[in-house]
Amino acid sequence: MSTEISNAELLDAVSAEAPNAFEFLSSLVSRPSLRGQEQSAQELVESVLSDLGFAVERIAVPESIGDDALAGVPAMSYAGRFDVLGRTLHDGGRSLLLNGHIDVVPVNSTTWASDPFVPVVRDGWLYGRGAGDMKGGFAMAILALRALRRLQSDAGRRNLLFLSVIEEEYTGNGTLAALRAGVTADAVVLPEPTGLNILLGGVAITWVKVTIEFGGGHAESSDRLASPAQVVARLIEGLGQIEAAYNKDPRAPYDTIAHPYNVNVGVVQLGEWPSSVPAVAELEVRVGHPDDVSVAQVVADIRAVVAETLSAAGSPYFDVVPHGFKAQGYHLAAEHPLVRQVAQAHASVHGVELSTEVLGSTTDARYYVNQLDVPALCFGPVVKNMHGSNECVELASIEAGAATLARFLLDYFAEDTDSEVG
Ligand SMILES: [Zn+2]
Repeated sequence: MSTEISNAELLDAVSAEAPNAFEFLSSLVSRPSLRGQEQSAQELVESVLSDLGFAVERIAVPESIGDDALAGVPAMSYAGRFDVLGRTLHDGGRSLLLNGHIDVVPVNSTTWASDPFVPVVRDGWLYGRGAGDMKGGFAMAILALRALRRLQSDAGRRNLLFLSVIEEEYTGNGTLAALRAGVTADAVVLPEPTGLNILLGGVAITWVKVTIEFGGGHAESSDRLASPAQVVARLIEGLGQIEAAYNKDPRAPYDTIAHPYNVNVGVVQLGEWPSSVPAVAELEVRVGHPDDVSVAQVVADIRAVVAETLSAAGSPYFDVVPHGFKAQGYHLAAEHPLVRQVAQAHASVHGVELSTEVLGSTTDARYYVNQLDVPALCFGPVVKNMHGSNECVELASIEAGAATLARFLLDYFAEDTDSEVG
């Protein structure tokens, strides 16, 4: 038997601790942990982990990490930026790592109903940038740990690590730095927003930057010059052909997704003055692609489309370089015992069977699965509008997920005791 704590006791403890966890979530969302501004949110995580009895340390990300074959391409210095690691410091035995990313994506829209960094609860949902991706997951994990503490259970946190990383949203270098510093465990759970499903895998992602030097000119001459705006429009159309090619006959398990490999033109910068023909175009493109297409091949494929598009416009100078993500695809087998154990915990507490899925995106789980052969999966709350306006997380799902996670932790560490004894 895993433990004498009943599911009813667990659910009671979770709802008793929920207000505190939601307050933590609000506080976390109100600290805008955009790229390069993670410190204040990391300090809050440090204090919450200390409060829960974790030994807390900071893990620096070396400036040289960009040279690591598994790193993404950094866009800024790592000075003063760090991961936070908490350990329960119990002696040996089976270990578990909870990994969450503190960074959030930028806000560029005015279509938010309220300030994205002033969290507000409406109809059971907490709104704010990062509330869904993935500060709600932090709240879920902290809630599970608080509930276990309330029940005076050390059994659910015997050899537990909690890692809060930077830069999940564009390189993965925060998790990579921790991994290179030797931070790992026998299994990893990432409380990413999965709608209370189990996320098992993601596709390869490469970011590329395309720069075109058109040279510019006076608007008076624009009828005689190739229109950079039209050239860029044709280029975007051309990128669609790459996307179509990548999505032809996707291999398992990505054949379960209608369109696994999205080529997203995320940033287009063109021109500087209404009366000037644009001199420079810059596109930043996120390319989802099959695992057997290398980063170099992605760059070559895009280069070919750019060259062909530009040949009809006088072949101006251009460059295509990778920046940000160079992420490999990854996949944990649905039959893995870790998957079964999380699913059983959820079924035990809620009487609901969890489903598993893969998505056309990535998570830091890839490093554990691919590089260390350590099982890693994502399980977290129900959210809406990730990366968009009015991003929000459903508070009830944070409670539900926390109860599952707490049950899982009890079972996970108890199994260790059982096997050691047996
Ligand atoms: Zn995320």
